[in-house]
Amino acid sequence: MAIGTRGRGLANIDYVSRIQDLHRCVDAWRRAGESIALLPTMGALHEGHLSLARIGRAHCRRLIASIFVNPTQFAPSEDFSSYPRTLENDLAKLDAIGCDLVWAPGADAMYPDRFATSIVPLGAASGLEADFRPQFFTGVATVCCKLFLQTQPHVALFGEKDYQQLCVVRQMVRDLNLRLEIVAGPTIREPDGLAMSSRNAYLSAKERKIAAAIHPTLLRAAAAFRDGLEPKTATEMASRQLVEAGFDEIDYVAIRDSETLHPVPRGSKTAARVLAAARLGTTRLIDNIDSTARV
Ligand code: AMP
Repeated sequence: MAIGTRGRGLANIDYVSRIQDLHRCVDAWRRAGESIALLPTMGALHEGHLSLARIGRAHCRRLIASIFVNPTQFAPSEDFSSYPRTLENDLAKLDAIGCDLVWAPGADAMYPDRFATSIVPLGAASGLEADFRPQFFTGVATVCCKLFLQTQPHVALFGEKDYQQLCVVRQMVRDLNLRLEIVAGPTIREPDGLAMSSRNAYLSAKERKIAAAIHPTLLRAAAAFRDGLEPKTATEMASRQLVEAGFDEIDYVAIRDSETLHPVPRGSKTAARVLAAARLGTTRLIDNIDSTARV
């Protein structure tokens, strides 16, 4: 099906790593009037990614998944080199779900020599994650914009798990008049409530148990906010609970407007989100819930 030079993994699915090969596929589908959904990922796929893939399948005739561990969204001190890379497994999972094509460029294909253009998002990209990972959203916005231009999708899938990222991507699509729809999927959790994440693989058995405390802590903070507590009081309480549960450092717990991510006042009835980032040993975990969510 894919035209031109391509790699083929053990799974029976086409993947391309050269931009010309990707363009040939996309152009053929577009010429045939077929709709395209894109699922951008960094690989190490789990049920959270696959749930988004299923949503993509339901929206469009064709589904492209990209697998690219994007170096520009990692700071030098972060886990770029140790980030799990499991291409063969990922291909098998995408194959089983009926994904049509995997776009797996190398860093040279994405950032060739003399690459010198970035998208610097403001607004929703201010505060929260950006206070701890200042390079992150410029890296994310730039690579997502490139992925959108490369794959020309009608729809792109993003998880609520990375809620600020979802807001930043939506803002970029609106601001730059990009012609695609961003479709969000709910956070998929382990049976004990821990949000699935490729980074959960870093956790020791002891840390994994502690990690499960994030979700109930967010639920309690949401309930306290609904009961009329000041957001600051509710989030300070949540931070203390995370420390008591065994987290080493709390980057933030915050209650913010669901769309703008601006702080919300006590008793606010507009849609709000409770977001947190906390560290367990060397692993940094993030999670969030809708403020109306109940245990
Ligand atoms: P990543 O590979 O971590 O860059 O994630 C790729 C996409 O999958 C992003 O849109 C994430 O928000 C989404 N995602 C990651 N984990 C989950 C999860 N547990 N539930 C739903 N979506 C997720």
